[in-house]
Amino acid sequence: TEKLHIVGGGMAGSEAAWQAAQMGVDVVIHEMRPKVETFAHRTGSLAEMVCSNSFRSDDDEQNAVGLLHWEMRAANGLIMSSADAHRLPAGGALAVDRDPFAETVTNRLKSHPRVSVTEEEVIDLPEHGHWIFSTGPLTSPALGEAIAKATGADSLAFFDAIAPIAYAESIDMNVAWRQSRYDKGDTEEERTAYINCPMTRAEYEAFIDALLAADKTEFHEGETAGYFDGCLPIEVMAERGRETLRHGPMKPVGLTNPHKPDEKPYAVVQLRRDNALGTLYNIVGFQTKMKYGAQTEVFRMIPGLGEARFARLGGIHRNTFLNSPTLLDEQMRLRSRRHIRFAGQITGVEGYVESAAMGLLAGRLAAAEILERPLPPVPQDSAMGALIHHITGGADAKTFQPMNVNFGLFRPVDGLKGGRRGRKDRYKAYTDRAKQAWAAWLDSCAETGVEPA
Ligand code: FAD
Repeated sequence: TEKLHIVGGGMAGSEAAWQAAQMGVDVVIHEMRPKVETFAHRTGSLAEMVCSNSFRSDDDEQNAVGLLHWEMRAANGLIMSSADAHRLPAGGALAVDRDPFAETVTNRLKSHPRVSVTEEEVIDLPEHGHWIFSTGPLTSPALGEAIAKATGADSLAFFDAIAPIAYAESIDMNVAWRQSRYDKGDTEEERTAYINCPMTRAEYEAFIDALLAADKTEFHEGETAGYFDGCLPIEVMAERGRETLRHGPMKPVGLTNPHKPDEKPYAVVQLRRDNALGTLYNIVGFQTKMKYGAQTEVFRMIPGLGEARFARLGGIHRNTFLNSPTLLDEQMRLRSRRHIRFAGQITGVEGYVESAAMGLLAGRLAAAEILERPLPPVPQDSAMGALIHHITGGADAKTFQPMNVNFGLFRPVDGLKGGRRGRKDRYKAYTDRAKQAWAAWLDSCAETGVEPA
């Protein structure tokens, strides 16, 4: 059979290689480190954790990332078994002893009879063969250029500017209202795709003060701030003048508050629907370098968001990622060149765990294709399925930004109470349903006769 080539031996590439090799496919990993370095990696090991040493919550009943751990363990994932082997005490989180973890991943792959590793930077998209590109947020510039050329310049971003995303159900609609600016849009759906939060002058002034005072993070050395001219952090806009935001993303024009029709708001914060399910809304224009704790505090000052919960907070980082909803098919193949798959953070997921998860799927899907034993579609009710569905179709392509796994990506479970009191039951229902769906999918993989050993 043909070989599978994997470019980039990070979280995603390592897991993809393991899955494919265990299914009986020969794999070549092309990894540029240590020959070519990035500003964040320190070693030549595969699966190096570049920043925090946490895989986040390990709670597989109440937390979406914990559920992803569960699903990867059930699929005999290399990243999870290596993390478990080097687990550090950290309460409910899965903290990892990073160097022995990376060494374990490296050794298990290098000693696998079906895996070989070559140290080289790949700088082109090849014309033939079976390929997975999992070169991550710090994809080398030469390859980044080649990908941009092949996919169209607008389809590859080199920076993310993430506005915070709130769960729709946590927004107080007795204060906020749905309306697009100047009622623009041909359909009712478009005219109600925005949620508006009104501010009085006093609320606006207090908000600006809080923005200016909030703790912020600095850019990493080498990350260069020059990239984000078109998407300044809101706190930088506030520094440029107290009125800047009111004339920018918070302008109060073209909107009428039905709760107080006679009162003109001094400023308005808009949230835009972020996924097809309508469970997630991003705060328009609110990319920020504020620290996470500060963000929650400051954003809850916005009327209507007093009890908001966030599926993800804002950020601005060096990050190479594709506009996956337009470029990738449901199997993570480049629509224009189906012999090439993408996996990991470059597909627009965010985080070690999510990246490894997308590697797991890409490795299995690619190996199944080489072995000519197609797998059934990944179930949307699993955490894996919710993520892959989001990046390859569920997300809005126009505003696509990298996403963490979260329950807002899951189809609602019918017949459960909403609100805070129902949440625990609801999350349990999501995770129960997901585990069942994932286990059934793994069983049907096994029936194709190519279940990883
Ligand atoms: P990586 O793990 O980055 O793997 C990509 C691999 O491809 C690398 O080994 C790289 O050397 C190689 N490569 C790149 N270009 C080429 C090429 N042309 N040819 C051959 N090889 C190539 N996530 C978290 O969960 N927690 C955090 O605290 C966190 N902090 C982060 C801090 C920084 C500065 C950055 C940049 C990212 C951070 N992330 C964090 C995100 C994290 O990097 C990713 O989620 C995860 O490592 C991505 O996995 P990946 O496999 O997609 O990419």
